[in-house]
Amino acid sequence: MATEHREILHGVAASGAIASSLEAAPLAVVVDLVRTGRARTRPELTAVSGLSRKVVTQRVDQACEIGLLREGGLAPSGGGRHARVLEFDPDAGRVFGVLIGASELRVAVAALDGRPLATSQEDWTVDSGPEATMQRVHAHIDALAVRHAATRPWGIGVGVPGPVDFPEGRLIAPPIMPGWDGFSVRAWLRERVDAPVWVDNDVNLMAVGEWVHGVGPRTEDMLFLKVGTGIGSAVISRGRLLRGQRGAAGDIGHIRVSDDPTAVCRCGEVGCLEAVAGGWSLIVEATQRASESPTLLDALRERGRISLGDVGAASRAGDPVAREMLGERAAALGEVTASLVNFANPGQLVVGGGVLRAGEELVGRIEDVVRRRSTKIASEHLVVRPASLDQQEGVTGAALLAVENLLSPIALARWVEDASPLGHAAALQRFAPAFA
Ligand SMILES: [Zn+2]
Repeated sequence: MATEHREILHGVAASGAIASSLEAAPLAVVVDLVRTGRARTRPELTAVSGLSRKVVTQRVDQACEIGLLREGGLAPSGGGRHARVLEFDPDAGRVFGVLIGASELRVAVAALDGRPLATSQEDWTVDSGPEATMQRVHAHIDALAVRHAATRPWGIGVGVPGPVDFPEGRLIAPPIMPGWDGFSVRAWLRERVDAPVWVDNDVNLMAVGEWVHGVGPRTEDMLFLKVGTGIGSAVISRGRLLRGQRGAAGDIGHIRVSDDPTAVCRCGEVGCLEAVAGGWSLIVEATQRASESPTLLDALRERGRISLGDVGAASRAGDPVAREMLGERAAALGEVTASLVNFANPGQLVVGGGVLRAGEELVGRIEDVVRRRSTKIASEHLVVRPASLDQQEGVTGAALLAVENLLSPIALARWVEDASPLGHAAALQRFAPAFA
């Protein structure tokens, strides 16, 4: 993972605290500099860290012995002798990334670079309540742990489709999650799994997954628009996730965009963006209007329900009803997104979420509106693209949330002398709010 990634998930950590822990733990410094790509050889480590050559040599040996670093090939010569390249070993430990969506669960076991090694998924509605949902999550974790030798995970990152008090790992009045208000995902998992748990809003984690491992150009500023069952956004500004005071930043699903009294939202209000343009509103309208469209009617008769994929296929085949419904949604999404583009001036706009199953043409239509409705300076060099990780961006971001909290210099300094964070779960957990 490159240098600029490392602080994204921590937010503003107390720099004084980091500095003192760095002094106390040269081993943590060495591992951190190699992992974040700021030093790749022993001479570079000596130059960047300010540690003596002897200390660097000793600590690198120690880090290789405990399996966090490994020797790679020879670095290109800078005039003197070739130096051996050092690498962080992403297989030194395993983490889990969990994404609880409004209508599906996804769990991944991942390496320490956040890349999923294996994923399991099931259709699941989050309004089944916290206890039943968390039991399913736990079952997925257990099954993956056994199959992929990860029965002692280093940490777990969890994304949920509602506002999260990030320091507490607790949901706050989630509009579409009845029974979840005040529920602590962290406390529930910590009672059952001996690993630290970090919880964040699902859209934040999708943004982080795309930002770190997506196909897009490297930009310091990114806007992620999630159009799933619900709608949300996340902003990465100057390489940092914008969380706001309590973690609610980016929650755009319930912005009022229409006076239509029939656009009743799941939150109880009328005219929310989600009620006008969310995935569930598309399914509801497509079902109601199926009689106007032979293609949609066929789908409804064949399977008893219409999916997002059916609407996309109908639209691509030129079905006027499907095209109209997607066009209306693109217009509403584009208007709000254009305002966000003017506000945040991102370098790239990434559109993800389950509605992409209706086809990526929706992204093009949103882009048209955004380009028309945002200022020239904000849109001129804006890159607009669909999410690129095949619906894995959320679990990837969740895994990265755990990784970055485990391997930040300040966390590393706490456990690195013991070779692994196992047994430090409670301490690392208490630590987490320091990064929020
Ligand atoms: Zn609403």
